[in-house]
Parts: sequence; C-alpha cells; structure tokens
Amino acid sequence: MTTKKTKSAIVTVDIDRALYDELKARADKKRYKIKEYVNERLWLDLQKEKFLAAYAPFLSVIGEPEGNRITLHDTKIKQTVDVFLHDTQLYCEIDEKGPCAHIDYVMLLPELSKLYINRQQQSKKEGE
Ligand SMILES: [Zn+2]
Repeated sequence: MTTKKTKSAIVTVDIDRALYDELKARADKKRYKIKEYVNERLWLDLQKEKFLAAYAPFLSVIGEPEGNRITLHDTKIKQTVDVFLHDTQLYCEIDEKGPCAHIDYVMLLPELSKLYINRQQQSKKEGE
C-alpha cells in the first residue's frame, strides 16, 4: 500500500519577534492581515529579483558588502565595479558623471540595506 503525500498550500515559518512586530504594525496600518502582507512583500521581492536579472543580466554581486562599498562584476565591460554609499547617495567608481546601470542595480539589491546599516553603526561609533 502506498501512502499519498500531499503538500499543504500553507506553510509555517519562524520569524524573529522584533521583525514580526514591525511587519504586523505595517500590516495593521495598511489594513492587511499579517499573512496577506507578508506574502505580498515576499512575492514582490521575488518579482523584483526576476526583474533585476532581466534588467541587468550582465551584473552580479561579488562577496558581501564591506563598509560603504558593494562590489559588482560587470560581464559587459569585463571588470569589477565598486559602488559606494556616501550619506544618502550612491556613487559608482567608473561612472563619475552620474546615475548608471551599476547604481540602478545596487538600488534594487537587498544588500543596499547592509550599507545603510553599516553607515548607521559607523555614525554611532563616531558619536561615542
Ligand atoms: Zn557605473
């Protein structure tokens, strides 16, 4: 006799309490149920990743962000490119005149948040 395995359409995951509380507050503010809000955010994030892969298939992140820098590999120009966060602006080391695909790409990366967090931590250290 074989047992039929079925996958539930709903799964449960553990979320850190602080993160849950912040997401719940945002969901409440928008009058969403927390489940709908989290599912929408995750779905949109996945779609953003797909867009990014289609928008700039020649770009990828190398390693982890360090300090205020994210390093990209650009297969179009066959070189690495550093993008830096200064205050609230991103700067590309090779496109000094202004916005470029590298900055656009970094603006959509979740790793941008790590640069922002690094900057906040650096500001705290300098303020001590
Ligand atoms: Zn650039």
